[in-house]
Amino acid sequence: MAEQVCSTCRGQKVLNLGTTACRCPMCEGTGAQWDPGREFTYEMGPFILNAPATAAPTIPQTSSGATYNGAVANGVTCQVANYRFRWMFALATRTGPFTIQLQDAGSGSGRSFVPVNIQVHSENLFGNARNPMPLPTPYVFDKNVSITANITDLYGGVGVCSVTNGSAAVTWISGALFNTAAFPGAPYSNIPMWNGGTITIAGVQYVISSAAGSGVTSQTTLTLATTYLGATSAVAAYSVANTVRIGFKGVELAA
Ligand SMILES: [Zn+2]
Repeated sequence: MAEQVCSTCRGQKVLNLGTTACRCPMCEGTGAQWDPGREFTYEMGPFILNAPATAAPTIPQTSSGATYNGAVANGVTCQVANYRFRWMFALATRTGPFTIQLQDAGSGSGRSFVPVNIQVHSENLFGNARNPMPLPTPYVFDKNVSITANITDLYGGVGVCSVTNGSAAVTWISGALFNTAAFPGAPYSNIPMWNGGTITIAGVQYVISSAAGSGVTSQTTLTLATTYLGATSAVAAYSVANTVRIGFKGVELAA
């Protein structure tokens, strides 16, 4: 589909009023008909921060399937396809919060949506998936460009812990300390965000206890919902992961 010319000025950009000419008020002097576009949603991910191991994405165009054995993921990408894309809503579905620096890597613009070299809290950029964040002014990406992001996890962690066969107690040894922070906002205040979440210990997934007074009890101690079934070890690898999918909702433009 080709771009339509403005039906008021017929693409002339000005209206000739006889004694004077003024900029066309319908197209604001662009000469192009307003294009409402066609509903479209892009997704960056899912990718996993603080995963048990690092792995390349299975779909590089969207970083889908990428895993990072740590809190930092740089150069995460989402490719815009064959039509210009007017981005109107920002969404993020995730296990827990993160910070992000987001930019339009295409057209040589490098246009950033937050201050350059700063990462902002995910809920301040995206709201959350139940309450998506409308952009005050929609942003148009050129076709075939990449949206890129540098991201740092605020939720999970990877490290080494001590565990005993038959015991539910887990003791931190090294690496990322256990996360005692709560999810932002009600109704989670004062409840560690890991409680009820998944922890991988020596390659096996366990649930962290969500019972009152249990779960993450300090930065170095936590309690599982069930007992640890593997071999007793003082050097067991642990990871608590954050799976993230970032949504870009808007409309595809005709040209
Ligand atoms: Zn016009």
